[in-house]
Amino acid sequence: MLPVVALVGRPNVGKSTLFNRLTRTRDALVADFPGLTRDRKYGQANYDGFQFIVIDTAGVHGDEEGIDAEMASQSLRAIDEADVVLFMVDARDGITVADNAIAEYLRKMSKKSYVVANKIDGIDANAAQADFFELGLGDVYGIAAAHGRGVEQLLEKAFTPL
Ligand code: GDP
Ligand code: MG
Repeated sequence: MLPVVALVGRPNVGKSTLFNRLTRTRDALVADFPGLTRDRKYGQANYDGFQFIVIDTAGVHGDEEGIDAEMASQSLRAIDEADVVLFMVDARDGITVADNAIAEYLRKMSKKSYVVANKIDGIDANAAQADFFELGLGDVYGIAAAHGRGVEQLLEKAFTPL
């Protein structure tokens, strides 16, 4: 049984870009994974020797009314199914209302969760990462999903046994 990694976060933070990088090709979609719905996309990842199932989600919407509904459906289910949650934020945007809502939920869960600040290409990565420490979920891992920077280090951390 492969470990399951869920990519969660509001729309446009780069979840699908990371999903495509981890699975390399859309052909990696796992069609017969239990619980498959069109709101959650499953793929098999084989990245730098790490093998796992990765779940992409459409994202939690930023408007306050939508957060509960979205969290209650696909993102919540993805989190439930996962062994490890990669909570993605946009390093260029700072913390948003939706980010805080997701963080609050994850803080209550006893599940391995990592804050992943994406899009650190071309900005001061250290300063951006420091901002997201306030989400209260521990260390922040800076990556550029579009280019692959930081992804291997993130996986090494996420798959190191506690
Ligand atoms: P999702 O809605 O969370 O799935 O986000 P997407 O993967 O669709 O990406 C949203 C936008 O961010 C797209 O225009 C991507 O090209 C862009 N993006 C994703 N990763 C990076 C990155 O590492 N650096 C930069 N500069 N842009 C990125
Ligand atoms: Mg997407």
